[in-house]
Amino acid sequence: MKLSKDEWKKKLSPAAYDLLRNEGTERAGTSPLDREKRAGVFACAGCDLPLFTSDMKFESGTGWPSFFTAIPGRLETKTDYKILYPRIEYHCARCAGHQGHVFDDGPKPTGLRYCMNGLALKFRPA
Ligand SMILES: [Zn+2]
Repeated sequence: MKLSKDEWKKKLSPAAYDLLRNEGTERAGTSPLDREKRAGVFACAGCDLPLFTSDMKFESGTGWPSFFTAIPGRLETKTDYKILYPRIEYHCARCAGHQGHVFDDGPKPTGLRYCMNGLALKFRPA
């Protein structure tokens, strides 16, 4: 799914645009999705592709919504060097919208922590 910069600007709020299209990071503790406990699906805020389900979510204590795995095939990754050490960036496989970074300090069974920007997601209760 490819849209021009202007088309994305029309579709998204300024904060969501910065996050999804410029790899921004939201402030920890600002997303209501961090405290979302209901069953449902977390979809890309850019293109509505479901990325995570509520049973993949865990309480990481970081202030960002966190997941230990994602729905297969929905995310792509790349390494970024925006800070001193390399991090694995992940983005939506359909619209390439930036979602967050994945770290290897998550819980079992994967040991992964997908650290999400809540603004990059839309929650749909089951
Ligand atoms: Zn998307």
